[in-house]
Amino acid sequence: MSAEERAHIVALDKRRVWHPYTPMSQYRDETDPLVVVRADGARLHDADGRVYLDANASWWVAALGHGHSRLVAALKRQADVLCHTALAGITHAPAAELAEALACVAPAGLAHVFFSDDGSTAVEVAMKLALQYWAQNGRPARKRFLALEGAFHGETLGVTALGGVEVFRRPFAGVLLDCIHVPAPGDASAYEQAFGALERAVREGADDIAAVVLEPVVQGAAGMRIYDAAYLRDARALCDAHDVFLVCDEVFTGYGRTGPMWASQHAGIAPDLLCTAKGFCGGMLPMAATLATPRIFDGFLGDPDRAFYYGHSFCGNPLGAAVAREVLRVFDDEKVLEQVARKAPRIARAFAGMAALPGVARTRSLGMIGALDLAGPEGYLAGAGQRVAAEARRRGAYLRPLGNVVYVSPPLTISEPDLDELLGIVQESVRAAAQ
Ligand SMILES: *Cc1c(COP(=O)(O)O)cnc(C)c1O
Repeated sequence: MSAEERAHIVALDKRRVWHPYTPMSQYRDETDPLVVVRADGARLHDADGRVYLDANASWWVAALGHGHSRLVAALKRQADVLCHTALAGITHAPAAELAEALACVAPAGLAHVFFSDDGSTAVEVAMKLALQYWAQNGRPARKRFLALEGAFHGETLGVTALGGVEVFRRPFAGVLLDCIHVPAPGDASAYEQAFGALERAVREGADDIAAVVLEPVVQGAAGMRIYDAAYLRDARALCDAHDVFLVCDEVFTGYGRTGPMWASQHAGIAPDLLCTAKGFCGGMLPMAATLATPRIFDGFLGDPDRAFYYGHSFCGNPLGAAVAREVLRVFDDEKVLEQVARKAPRIARAFAGMAALPGVARTRSLGMIGALDLAGPEGYLAGAGQRVAAEARRRGAYLRPLGNVVYVSPPLTISEPDLDELLGIVQESVRAAAQ
């Protein structure tokens, strides 16, 4: 793309496009955006011919890298035959075969699959299923949810109530559903106190809590906060004891991001409802699923007025379903989880080493996630991470820090040389930004 063409695109963008999570006056006046023209593997190519390693798999979705040839081929094959049809009372092979394959790799007992569009709707579906289940199965007072401080479950108005990132909640204070927030487990030393708070809240609220909703083991948007799997295991037991549903939001953590296929596996548990998106469709199309146990599914059988009258235009979209089905085949054929097991120690070593850098307060890692907190102001609006991102961009990596938290969450299939290069760039950029 020529310099004039690039300038034209940026001018159109700045005139018309309202960017997500972006202060638009600063963007308009100060930002020279990356103009991505194509992507392959772990690399983004800019309009000016520069190449960037994609440190966050483009918002955590491109689990198999960009432009994977088998996913592109599956998409083309499906597009030639059937791009879309409704899913209310009619069906098609891509949705049926995907649901079967997904149930086979899901944690035990999650036998039924409800399709939707993205991570937010997958969690919204889980909330509505829980509410309606209790309403028509003998516990109509159960209308509240319990979530963690710092939680992120997406952006619809329903799931915003579960969220605990203050910046995302603040504008909607007063109109959100009733949700109890308890302290996040944090590191091992805070575990007992945090679990005690959860236990009290569930015990006291058992009559009116519909479900406990958790990001298993890693709170992504909170700043890649990792907690002990024992908390998740004990939360499962607690929910069982009070017969409250446990929802695991695996939108970020699923599909090998933390090591195993599902982060719930670190605790050896299965939730009553599991939400998946992002890696689920290999980062190619907006597509999500909520998986449910037979108990919940059966709670909607019988009289038609017990049915779940809910759906989206693109539920089970054949293009997305064909790609998502191929994603699972690629996970098998390319032994993606074994690749993760090989690469995770490189991320762990590199981030442990970065703890000694000037300006770094602490580091952590799990699976294909490595993160560090820069010293100084914390929170989503803290600016320190942006200086590191600017240094990284100069060095050929695209980072998107969460406030003062600098992290990598690259495609699981990133080659080992690319991964080492990325980790080296992060290290140099943190050092340069501290000067
Ligand atoms: C990204 C994310 C969501 C929302 O997914 P969208 O596809 O952006 O709507 C929900 N939960 C978690 C844990 C996420 O990381």
